Formats: sequence, structure tokens, C-alpha cells
Amino acid sequence: MFDVVVIGGGTAGVAAAYTLSVNGLKTLLIEKKDYLGGEMTGGLVVPMMNTGASLINQDFFNLMVAEMSKIGAQIEFQGNKGWFNPHALKVVLNDILEKAGVKIMYNTTVSGFVASNDRKILSITASGQNSNKYRLSEYNNMIHSDNNLAEKSKILLEHIETIYVIDATGNCDFGKLCNCNFLENKSGENQLVSLRFCMRGVDIHKFGEFLREYDSDTDVTPIEIINGKMHLSTAFTWDKQDKWGLFPLFQKAVTAGDLTVEDCNYFQLFTVAGVDDEIAFNCPRYPEIIDIYDDKVVSDTYKWLNDSIIRIAGFCKKYFKGFENAYISQVADGIGIRCSRRIKGKYVYTEEDLKGSKTFDNPVLESNYPIDVHKTGKDSGVEMVYKSYQLPVESLMSADFDNLFVAGRCLSADFKAQSALRVQKSCLSMGEGVAKYIVKQIKG
Ligand SMILES: Cc1cc2nc3c(=O)[nH]c(=O)nc-3n(C[C@H](O)[C@H](O)[C@H](O)COP(=O)(O)OP(=O)(O)OC[C@H]3O[C@@H](n4cnc5c(N)ncnc54)[C@H](O)[C@@H]3O)c2cc1C
Repeated sequence: MFDVVVIGGGTAGVAAAYTLSVNGLKTLLIEKKDYLGGEMTGGLVVPMMNTGASLINQDFFNLMVAEMSKIGAQIEFQGNKGWFNPHALKVVLNDILEKAGVKIMYNTTVSGFVASNDRKILSITASGQNSNKYRLSEYNNMIHSDNNLAEKSKILLEHIETIYVIDATGNCDFGKLCNCNFLENKSGENQLVSLRFCMRGVDIHKFGEFLREYDSDTDVTPIEIINGKMHLSTAFTWDKQDKWGLFPLFQKAVTAGDLTVEDCNYFQLFTVAGVDDEIAFNCPRYPEIIDIYDDKVVSDTYKWLNDSIIRIAGFCKKYFKGFENAYISQVADGIGIRCSRRIKGKYVYTEEDLKGSKTFDNPVLESNYPIDVHKTGKDSGVEMVYKSYQLPVESLMSADFDNLFVAGRCLSADFKAQSALRVQKSCLSMGEGVAKYIVKQIKG
């Protein structure tokens, strides 16, 4: 019996599980993969975007900063402390959560639930990819016994009773399992997917000097020396080519057949905290909207993204100074999805709420991150929002079950509002905020 089961140990899930446990609640965290962090680690999403000067629900973020800086795996760049080394973050998150007393089940997902007639989840069924519930001898006895199929199926399942559930799976997998209602995109609304990757063996200093030569716009290409090491980032969108000094190089590569126009449609790179020779790429981005629930479409997209990584890496080596000895060192462990299922919550947060800076009684976060829709065409990109806005906890409460909450990018918000709220610092605040709300409900 747990107070709270958090499903999904990614960005929002780790913040939620930690906060619940340090506040004395018996907390179980179920994670499908064998590491924590989701997009922050396995997705290679660095850095965290700055979300303004909010002081709401930043404790977990600040703890990450403190723990990561102790091992030299965090920097502050351009006033943003959210530059982490994604590789080291996996083990640091495990350490933080274990010390906080969270019970973590890796390699596990959810396959069922029991609900009461009065809109409450009573228990969930967790299924491990490998059963460690029984010793091998017990397992052999069970499958060779005359038990019926239903009994045998229990071999791989854990039945877990709980008071609250938080779905932090990104795609709202548990909500889907429970047949919750979801918000629908209007026609044409969706985000493009990307596959992030990293290259090592880069001479960062040489590359930085080369970038300076080509692009003197320090808003687009900031470069800083931090603790004696050069850090930088730059970004380029093919449709807005005239704004970027490196555009002629991309044009040359397309003409030479080294890149396709689609490879260039979004190009962004960053140095990585604590690694001297690594560049993390926020690309390639698949040029068309895809149905992420269609396995055939996802497979084809994945193949295109893989081929594009090979072309982009080859381009960097051939055209960028400092990349001569560089090599592909890591690829994100899945396609990066910016928007998928969004739950229908007790409150559906809207673009108007965000632009009007509407205030709420129980805010879980404050942010000024812009509306950020990834699509091709001249109207792609960001829509600035200059004032801070809040998100109410009711946008993290399922409309269908009273003890089911969500945290992260599957929140209850319209398409445009979600595009602003999906960034990592906001997801961390959602996890922490919803956890504090539950602590108050249980402890008073
Ligand atoms: C390509 C890309 C680039 C981005 N760039 C930036 C950026 O530069 N800066 C920024 O701040 N944000 C960026 N974002 C946004 C941000 O990274 C994500 O929106 C955010 O991390 C999502 O957090 P989450 O907790 O909702 O999901 P995740 O971090 O994806 O966590 C979900 C977790 O749930 C687990 N899970 C899934 N299904 C199940 C299941 N059925 N059972 C158990 N566990 C399950 C997953 O394994 C994962 O650990 C980017 C996103 C993408 C895709």
C-alpha cells in the first residue's frame, strides 16, 4: 500500500516523487526504462530553457543544480543555471531519489487498474519486463502447476494499492489505460519530432573562434568562458536563413549534396557542462507532422532521422573548423516528442490565460517562456510573452478520476499553451507543485 504511485520517472516524475517522499509520504516510482530523467537524460535534451524569475516550486531544480555542480556536471551560461550533463544526471537523480526514500521500480510499466464507482483509482497493476517477483524455482513450480491462466498471469504482475496516482509518462499512458478523456488538437495543430544526438572529439575552442568569424550576433551565437572552458550555442532555421552568418555554408553543402534542405530546416547546438569536447545537437527535426501512435510511421521516421544524423555529422566534420576529429558519440534513446496526449483536466488552461497572465489560487508554476511551436514555414518559431504567467494545479487534475493527477507535457492545456509549458523547468515545477498539493491533502 502506497500513499502515491508516480508513473514515469522523467522530468516531472522525479521532481514529484522526491517531493512526496521528503514530505513523509510512502512513494513508489514506476519507470519503463532502466534509468531516470526521461528527456533530460536519455532524450539528451540540454540545456533547460530559462523560464524567468519564478520562485514557485524550484526546490527540486535547485537541488539538481547543487548536486550536479558538486561533481562538475552543471554550469551557469548566459544567466541560466539549467545547463546539466545529461549522462551524469542519470546517476545523480537515482542517488537523490534513493536518499529521499523513494521506492523505484525500473523496467516496469503499468498494465491495469481497479477503480471504484465513485471515480477513484484503488489499485494499479505493474508489469516488469523481467519478473523478479519470484525466485526461479518458485516460477518453475507455478508455470508447471495446474493453475488456471489467470493465476499464471499473476507471475509477472504486481498489484499495488494506492491513495493517489500521478501520471508523469509524457504521453499520458496511464490516463489512456483508464480511458480518460483527452483534449483534441484543432486541424493543423501539432509539433514536429526530432532525434537529438551528440558528437565528441570536437575542439571547442577552435570551433568557437570559427563561429565568431561567421556570426557576430551574440544573441544567436553566444560564447562564454566558464571556469576556463569555452561554452557556446547557436541555432539556425532554414526558412529564416538571412539572419544567420553560417547560412552560406549550409547552402554550399546542399548544392554539393552533403545535406538536404530538410536536414537544415532546424539546426541547433550546445556545448555540454563538464565535458571538454562534446557538442549536443537539437536536430535533426523531421519535416512533417507524424502520427506518433502509428508504429510503421514511427519506424520510417526513425530511419529518416538516423540517415539525417549521419549527413549532419559528416557536414560538421567537413565544413566546421574544430570538428575534424569529431565523431557521433550518442543518440537519444527514442524520437523526441514535443506534444502528444493532453489530459482533459478539471481546468483546461488556455492561450488566453497565458497571454493575459491570469492568476490562480493554487499555482504550481510561474514562467515567461514563449509559445514555441516547431513547424516548417516562415511562421515557425516562438511568439514572445513578456509577462509571467501562472498554471493552476487544477490543470494537473484528471476530470475523470478524483485521485488521478498528471505532471509534465501531458497537462490539461490547449495546444498553444502546452507549447510554452512543456519545457523542462516548467515540468519540474509541475511535478513538485502537484506533489506539494497532494501532501497537503493527506497531511492537512
Ligand atoms: C526534441 C526535443 C527538444 C527539446 N528541447 C528542449 C530544450 O532545449 N529545453 C527545454 O527546457 N525543453 C526542451 N524540450 C521539452 C522537454 O524536454 C520535455 O517537454 C519535457 O522534458 C517532458 O517532461 P515529461 O516529464 O513530461 O516527460 P519525460 O521527461 O519524457 O518523462 C516521461 C518518463 O515516463 C517514462 N514512461 C513513459 N511511458 C511509461 C509507462 N507506460 N510506464 C512507466 N514509465 C513510462 C519514460 O521512460 C520517461 O522516463 C524538448 C523536447 C523535445 C522532444
